[in-house]
Amino acid sequence: MRSMPGVIAGVACTSICGAGALAAYAVRGPSSTLLAPSVYRGSASQRAVALTFDDGPSESTPALLDLLEKLQVTGTFFQCGANVQRLPQIARQVVERGHELGNHSHTHPRFYFRSREFIGAELAQAQDAIRVVTGVLPRLFRAPFGVRWPGMGAAQRRLNLLGVMWTVIGCDWKLKAEAIFKRVLTRTENGAIIGLHDGRELEARPNIGDTIEAVKRLIPALETQGYRFETVSQLICPRN
Ligand SMILES: [Zn+2]
Repeated sequence: MRSMPGVIAGVACTSICGAGALAAYAVRGPSSTLLAPSVYRGSASQRAVALTFDDGPSESTPALLDLLEKLQVTGTFFQCGANVQRLPQIARQVVERGHELGNHSHTHPRFYFRSREFIGAELAQAQDAIRVVTGVLPRLFRAPFGVRWPGMGAAQRRLNLLGVMWTVIGCDWKLKAEAIFKRVLTRTENGAIIGLHDGRELEARPNIGDTIEAVKRLIPALETQGYRFETVSQLICPRN
């Protein structure tokens, strides 16, 4: 799973980037694996995509779960440990409804210039909270704000976590439903990992109405184009 050809990329980029650009790419580039092992897409030969939702669970998550159930789609939820502790019943609902869970840190910090100890503790605390509350020990990790920093790779290895970035980011924290819908639809390709949100960092009762409205339109539109929906683990470990 960690050495799938064509999926883990990034080092080749060093030849086209200057030093400053390379540093920025290492920290924020969705395909970068320089600071921590991660994937950002599945196989291009599969007509499949993965919907992912970050920053939950929140009070707004159940409405999204209802929609996904109605449309018979499962996704992957990268949860914050502090949110899991605040809303344990909703965290468990995500699992009970058949979705995959991932670790999205404990308090959703920006990891720039943070110590290895701080990074390690954030990942470990979230891993513990998710395990204790839901009974699931995540294998996947998404860095808050997509920021990788020295020490993250070691923390992931200690916790046996594979980093997951995205192929398409919906920018649903700032765009309206129509814009989210168009943005994702036009950028989606085989094996795409689509990044959306069912929370807003640690905010209580976040408004995710535009995300829900966009997902309601996106799923049938992508199905019409022949895509099927998988969890991230299914997408990056194809059965054939
Ligand atoms: Zn986040």
